[in-house]
Amino acid sequence: MILIVDDSPENIISLQKVLEKNGFEVDTAASGEEALKKILQKSYVLIILDVQMPDMDGFEVAEAIRGYSKAKETAIIFLSAATADVQLITRGYSSGALDYISKPVDINILLLKVQTFYRIYEQSRELKDIQAKLLDEIEFRKEAERKKDEFISIASHELNTPVTSVKGYLQLLERSIDKQDMEVTKSRLQKARNQVDKLQILISDLLDISKVESGKLQFNKKFFVFDEMLDRVLEIMQPNNPQIKLIKNGAVKAKIFADEMRMEQVIVNFISNAQKYAHESEEIHVNSEVRGDQLYFSVKDFGIGMPEEHQKNIFKKFYRVEETAERFQGFGIGLYICYEIIERHNGTIGVNSIPGKGSEFYFYLPLQPEQEKN
Ligand code: ADP
Repeated sequence: MILIVDDSPENIISLQKVLEKNGFEVDTAASGEEALKKILQKSYVLIILDVQMPDMDGFEVAEAIRGYSKAKETAIIFLSAATADVQLITRGYSSGALDYISKPVDINILLLKVQTFYRIYEQSRELKDIQAKLLDEIEFRKEAERKKDEFISIASHELNTPVTSVKGYLQLLERSIDKQDMEVTKSRLQKARNQVDKLQILISDLLDISKVESGKLQFNKKFFVFDEMLDRVLEIMQPNNPQIKLIKNGAVKAKIFADEMRMEQVIVNFISNAQKYAHESEEIHVNSEVRGDQLYFSVKDFGIGMPEEHQKNIFKKFYRVEETAERFQGFGIGLYICYEIIERHNGTIGVNSIPGKGSEFYFYLPLQPEQEKN
């Protein structure tokens, strides 16, 4: 928007008409004081400023707005008497672009100057936008790099832990075999196997994440009874932590159209997280029911919970709640993969959680998939 400042209403009206006819938005002020008030409230691309005005002249107005942050980028065209000294006009004014036109105003020249200032303004705005985008991109990449480094260090640590345990159990196995103690041998074999299972889950999570990244996470969807699959998962998951009872509420006997193994993976993830982050509680509730035309599934625990600010980030790659990350081992990718799986089944995933009280992780899946998208 352009601000015309002139004490003569005729001048203002004629300039305003020409500028508006050429597509510019125009505001006006009849004195220096009025101009200052307006500049404080609005941002102008250009101010056309009459030099000779009673009370406050054009130079004084220019001088005064030098310090206004709103007018930092504003260009000024002075309208001066033909005899005015150019030096005087540019005196002391260094911020923003500056130009002058002698009176009587040649309207064509004024238009040319206005158009040039507008072009410069547009270009500098575009440059600023590009600069801001580049800065965002740099920040984003720096953060991604930092997360990658952090991930590599966590991943090596996480992978190393079960390998070290397996090595230890193998050494112990040698001893118990030497002693021909079959009972102890069997129990150590079982422990070694548990560690290998852990390792396998970690590695398949890692493989999944690279598949998600390259868009190669495949789904093998077919119809299956949700409840039967859930019972199987509960049977496997209960012995992992016998102290915490898995309590099943509701049942969805309907057949759903989904990738059964991937659904199992989501449920296993919810339950093993509950077992991990609510390890001191006695129960975990596993709920499923039909809600409208959707299947609702949730795992509710009574563990550490998490503050609200983390809840929207928890499904992002490598995201872990800082305070819990120190106490519990993990990669921060399980929920990210769950999110991808549920999204690719056209469902929604989420969490409700209260710090110190517990969390409820849930998903909704359409019971009647309208169209197979994958
Ligand atoms: P991981 O458990 O390996 O760190 P996840 O992606 O499964 O990775 O979980 C991401 C983060 O979400 C965890 O680090 C933890 O901070 C938080 N979280 C997940 N499940 C729960 C839960 N049931 N209770 C509290 N916090 C949880």
